[in-house]
Amino acid sequence: MPDCLFCNIVEGKVPSKKVFEDDRTYAFEDIDPQAPTHVLVIPKKHISGLQNAEPSDAELIGYCYLVAARIAHERKIEDTLRTVCNVGPRAGQAVFHLHIHVLGGRDMKWPPG
Ligand code: 5GP
Ligand code: ZN
Repeated sequence: MPDCLFCNIVEGKVPSKKVFEDDRTYAFEDIDPQAPTHVLVIPKKHISGLQNAEPSDAELIGYCYLVAARIAHERKIEDTLRTVCNVGPRAGQAVFHLHIHVLGGRDMKWPPG
């Protein structure tokens, strides 16, 4: 998707601090971290958000969560891990390429704002 920021990050047209990459996923440091660890995990395939995911995307989206868990394990933040997928502008979604926030390294509050 040419005008998609995260597609451009996957393609290297926009620089990012890569954390992990394989054939299906890309993970990178959030530019405005909200916790000591704040990584974004995205599918390389453009899916605009969970609201537009297809049944055929189920395995890919589930796999993104396993990548998130792997990163949390590597960062030793499993006891503070918060995975977040904002869906829609009123929930805070600003980039319309599905992404999972991987947050951790500090105490987390509930409910989120
Ligand atoms: P959303 O608000 O859509 O759930 O999350 C978008 C996230 O992308 C935000 O946490 C924001 O800081 C991050 N972000 C926006 N632009 C860039 C960018 O150019 N590079 C990186 N690394 N993160 C970005
Ligand atoms: Zn995209």
